[in-house]
Amino acid sequence: MTTPPQSRPRPLPQKIIGILGGMSDQATAEYYRLLNEGLNARYGGWDNGEIVIVSVNFGNIQHFVRQGEWESAERYLSGKVDALERAGADVILCMSNTMHRVVEPIMAARSTPFIHIADPTGEAIRAAGLTQVALLGTLATMRSETLRRRFQDRFGITLLTPDEADQTTVDRIIFDELVRRDLRPESKAEYLRIVDGLRGQGAQGVILGCTEIFLLIGQDDRPDFPVFDTTGLHVAAAVAFATEETGAEA
Ligand code: GLU
Repeated sequence: MTTPPQSRPRPLPQKIIGILGGMSDQATAEYYRLLNEGLNARYGGWDNGEIVIVSVNFGNIQHFVRQGEWESAERYLSGKVDALERAGADVILCMSNTMHRVVEPIMAARSTPFIHIADPTGEAIRAAGLTQVALLGTLATMRSETLRRRFQDRFGITLLTPDEADQTTVDRIIFDELVRRDLRPESKAEYLRIVDGLRGQGAQGVILGCTEIFLLIGQDDRPDFPVFDTTGLHVAAAVAFATEETGAEA
């Protein structure tokens, strides 16, 4: 936006960003912080976001995901999307990679714009000219056909995932530590060992496909290996959408 802050109409007409949040509360807080930071960087002055967060109980999500109760999860989150729409959200983000399995069909049946977490990530990987990347996330994410298909069909990207034992380690660290912002050096070392192993198998980069992982590892840990953080990329896409620089997929 080019109008200087002091000559803008007040209240500033702007898009309301709706976050389907709480999965986890720690990553949701990061979305809130990063969205405001990103919007303020665009607007200047004191302007930042108009944001609605519907924060769900992570205990319910943990149960649905780990028991594979996807229909219950879909019903639960569908009601929360209703709440975001009633609150006037102009665009909706689901801040969990895992829950895109149910939120993707929920949003396909609605007209509110939805920024799918895989899309800005896929675009960044494609822009980097890569076609085969590693994916770290919850067990449900690493085994998800929803994300695998989306990356393949829309972006021509093949996903490499850790072996069974390492998938279990990655998942355990997410649920036992990262969602509580418990950041341990030994877990960081485990993640980097797994990333290096996938690189040795031909991965050209790695997707941090769980919105808490960037708290533990990032580009600075492997400066010569492209790291695609779904949290940062998703937030950047929402900032761009809210400032009308891009579209979003329904
Ligand atoms: N924040 C997580 C994700 O991006 C996982 C927590 C969950 O929703 O199971 O997948």
